[in-house]
Amino acid sequence: MLGKMMDQPLLISNLIAHAARYHGATEVVSVETAGGIERADWSTLERNARRLASALGRLGLQPEDRCATIAWNNRRHVEIYFGVAGAGHVCHTINPRLHPEQLIFIVNHAEDRVLFFDATFLPAVAKLKAQFKTVAHYVLMGPRDEAAAAMLDGLLFYDELLETGDAGYAWPQFDETRASSLCYTSGTTGNPKGVLYTHRSTMLHTLAGNQPDGLAISAKDTVLPVVPMFHVNAWGVPYIAAANGAKLILPGPGLDGESLVKLIDGEAVTLALGVPTIWMGLLGALEKTGSKAKSLVRTVVGGSALPPSMIPAFRDKYGVELIHAWGMTETSPLGTLNQLLQKHDALSDEAKAAIRLGQGRPPYGVELRIIDEAGHILPHDGKTQGELQIRGHWIVDTYFKSDKSALTVDGWFDTGDVATIDADGYMIIRDRSKDIIKSGGEWISTVELENIAIGHPAVANAAAIAARHPKWDERPVLVVLKAQGAEVSEKDLLDFYDGKVASWQVPDKVIFVDALPLGGTGKVIKAKLREDFGHVLLQDEEA
Ligand code: AMP
Repeated sequence: MLGKMMDQPLLISNLIAHAARYHGATEVVSVETAGGIERADWSTLERNARRLASALGRLGLQPEDRCATIAWNNRRHVEIYFGVAGAGHVCHTINPRLHPEQLIFIVNHAEDRVLFFDATFLPAVAKLKAQFKTVAHYVLMGPRDEAAAAMLDGLLFYDELLETGDAGYAWPQFDETRASSLCYTSGTTGNPKGVLYTHRSTMLHTLAGNQPDGLAISAKDTVLPVVPMFHVNAWGVPYIAAANGAKLILPGPGLDGESLVKLIDGEAVTLALGVPTIWMGLLGALEKTGSKAKSLVRTVVGGSALPPSMIPAFRDKYGVELIHAWGMTETSPLGTLNQLLQKHDALSDEAKAAIRLGQGRPPYGVELRIIDEAGHILPHDGKTQGELQIRGHWIVDTYFKSDKSALTVDGWFDTGDVATIDADGYMIIRDRSKDIIKSGGEWISTVELENIAIGHPAVANAAAIAARHPKWDERPVLVVLKAQGAEVSEKDLLDFYDGKVASWQVPDKVIFVDALPLGGTGKVIKAKLREDFGHVLLQDEEA
């Protein structure tokens, strides 16, 4: 033998063991479901995670058995992440905003054995229990509560379950390719599909996604993941925070702007992460409360496109840097992050903001390419649009319980996004391939039309959709939610596009609505809008 290095499996339990050993006293602050703030530290979380792991063994759980959660971002949820995976089981996070039919489908499809849930969801769980075929143990995430016990036969209480666990339990060692967590795609069409992450994929995502040009979370940070823990492992933040000993702030159920301002100021948050809608709410609340969010240095924005007006809004008034990121359930999720290069140093704020509006570059560990409809690889020139494909250490290969790979014959995952990539690797999402508007053979980006509309002061939110058209096949229609108390006419809004896009890209019609249909992760459900309004131009023609 020439020599040998240690061969230690990359296991998720190592992360929290590290946090307990080297950052044991660093706080994890959690907003309780019932209200009020609870303070714990990494050492307590690790001890609890081990007790939970031991208690699950005593319940008879086998390796890779699924334990589901329907829960907010809170301390117990983090303990479940580490306790379940650390013991060799699979932590299956479920989005509580799903339709009950989808919830039932997901729990049965995953064959969940244990269901952990916050008090908020007790009525829903009690109602659906008869249809959950495989769940043997229901665990309310809190102390004993007699009123709750009366609502669900055999209900266990998390705090009591921990008591049954052995505090001397040692983390088991096993193969790093064992499954660790499971998350279903939002599934706007058809049944949701499960993505099964492994210890190895999660660990590589944790290490590579947090490089200096990635999330760059350090022990000096106080991190607020507003992105829910049921949405792609909260973008990996619980793992990354543990690996780096960051102070972690868990916002519980209150995700409105004012609750977030209180938390950011009260805990001196330095980095917050979430979808654009959350930051719209935060901006409104900062304005209203007069807070300057002094501690906040950076926010990471992803999940849907960053509206251009948001970068200067945060930069100029609050000195907060916005980092745009892109990813999917299938990509763990970090696929790209937008950090600048050395050569951009000398650029003006405006020029920098223009680059930062895109979704950014891939970190080491993933690669991107774009292809045309015939499968030809397209150039990375920043102009040519194509179907975005990705491959790497933390990208799905085969969906949960599927018997065939989800990849192309040459091993890439087709994201369903349409994008451009430039020579430096900066990627810009132009649209979802199913949303893009195909007007007379030309493509119109709905994202671009929406960004312009959202830049109008009287518009709170907007969605551009493809409406069927007798001559052009499809033409853009803009569905608009006005800002509270604001007035704007269809003509004003359409005039607002003058000079911003080519005249043939200007929407044919504006429809004002009282609310936009939002999916479980806060994204506008365009399929529903197309169902409701896809015919409006045909009617106009007929009229
Ligand atoms: P999900 O699996 O529910 O997280 O959805 C993933 C999809 O969200 C991607 O394929 C994109 O279409 C969209 N998405 C995520 N992040 C962004 C972003 N920063 N800009 C535009 N679209 C995004």
